[in-house]
Amino acid sequence: MSWITGVGLLPYGRHEAKSTLDLMSAAATLAMADAGVARGDIDGVLTGYATTMPHIMLATVFCEHFGLQPVYAHGLQVGGATGFAMVMLAHELVAAGRLRNVLVVAGENRMSAPGGRDKIVETLAQVGHPVHEVPLGPTIPAYYGLVANRYMHEYKISARDLAEFAVLMRANAATHPGAQFKEAITVDDVLGSKPIAQPLRLLDCCATADGGAAFVISRERTGAAGVRIIGAGQAHTHQHISEAPSLTEFGARLSMDRAIEAAGRKRQLHDHTRDPARRTGLGAARTVGPDGARRTFLPRRRQAAQYARRTAQLWPLRCRRRPRPPRRNTLADDGPRRLAPGCRYGPRGAARRRRRHVLACQPDPGAAVMSDGIRYQRCGGCGHTWYFVRSFCPRCGATAVSKHTASGRGVVHAVTIVDRAPTAEMKALAPYTLVMVDAEEGFRLMAHGAPGLAIDDPVQGSIVERAGRAIPLFRRV
Ligand SMILES: [Zn+2]
Repeated sequence: MSWITGVGLLPYGRHEAKSTLDLMSAAATLAMADAGVARGDIDGVLTGYATTMPHIMLATVFCEHFGLQPVYAHGLQVGGATGFAMVMLAHELVAAGRLRNVLVVAGENRMSAPGGRDKIVETLAQVGHPVHEVPLGPTIPAYYGLVANRYMHEYKISARDLAEFAVLMRANAATHPGAQFKEAITVDDVLGSKPIAQPLRLLDCCATADGGAAFVISRERTGAAGVRIIGAGQAHTHQHISEAPSLTEFGARLSMDRAIEAAGRKRQLHDHTRDPARRTGLGAARTVGPDGARRTFLPRRRQAAQYARRTAQLWPLRCRRRPRPPRRNTLADDGPRRLAPGCRYGPRGAARRRRRHVLACQPDPGAAVMSDGIRYQRCGGCGHTWYFVRSFCPRCGATAVSKHTASGRGVVHAVTIVDRAPTAEMKALAPYTLVMVDAEEGFRLMAHGAPGLAIDDPVQGSIVERAGRAIPLFRRV
């Protein structure tokens, strides 16, 4: 057990001439004052990562700057989950009796740092796979655009339904004194804002901002206010969207179940079939707005019915891993080789010429695996197929793996149109279509798509040259 005894949060927006360490220090000062603890009381420090100040020892750098000499300190980085992960670790360290007061702190000057928005968009876009995703020009909104597109397809919701979520989030955020934007927005405002990664528009996306936040996690309650932490949980299902088991079921629900279990509590099962809110057409999400009015997301009767059906299907599975659907495994042999654009070697010939052909067509390491076709690997032990190159099977660990060239046939799983490209070279191509395709060999890959593609379209892929790279492009067949 532990207590959140202090919180420090800087206003979101522009903090001119403030460095990452300045913002972290300001937030830490607020949190320690809130907790009523002095520098000497802090025996542990956990820091998040800072894209504006990448450093291999950020926690130590911060401690030196702020004037702390704790007995325990290091950084964490798990993307947007970093804040919660730091609090969870602080809780575990305190609950184990190792530390008494842990300072958890993060800050970034993303808006006012050199390069501003363009720099941070480009930096964050690097979260993708360096070989199979980043060269295609996805951005953070593009990854979420793919997820939103798939979610809208599976739950049969419209762009207006999705826009209601942004309206709701703005209404809730505007109640906070440190909010960056406080004016209310409407569904039409959202739909009228410029496209970023369709179906997501500007008002669907997180704003770039400077800011800082800190907590003090303590063994004992130190002041009048305190929030007791009784359990925490994590779930790690994948990193890259290409390897995600599903685009509509992520680890959030699993982590919540683990937190409830860690707290020694039981989830109170909610019977959706008896929920009057569902009968009035709610179902997927409800909350209470700042004016006390109940606000809803997904307000359509038919969507609620579909959600209830899905919930009924998933409910018994909450406490165990959802079984994977059987994958088609046609195990197609190597198909005809294709020439990369500008290659001076023919597609036929001896193995030596083949190797020269491959080497001659490598504009970068990423293209090495796809310059003569969309390549995948297959396990000789369990038959599993996958896309990201490895020397072993990620399912069973066998090292008997073989490489194959895919037929290029597949079905579109998700689509987004990227209007806001991450780099100068990709901006020249924007808007461009990104697709997730389920290849008939049983693996999923990200690729560029011809304009107008939609989920469930049968497609044929080939390798083309775009922005100086050999990339897979799919067209409807
Ligand atoms: Zn295997």
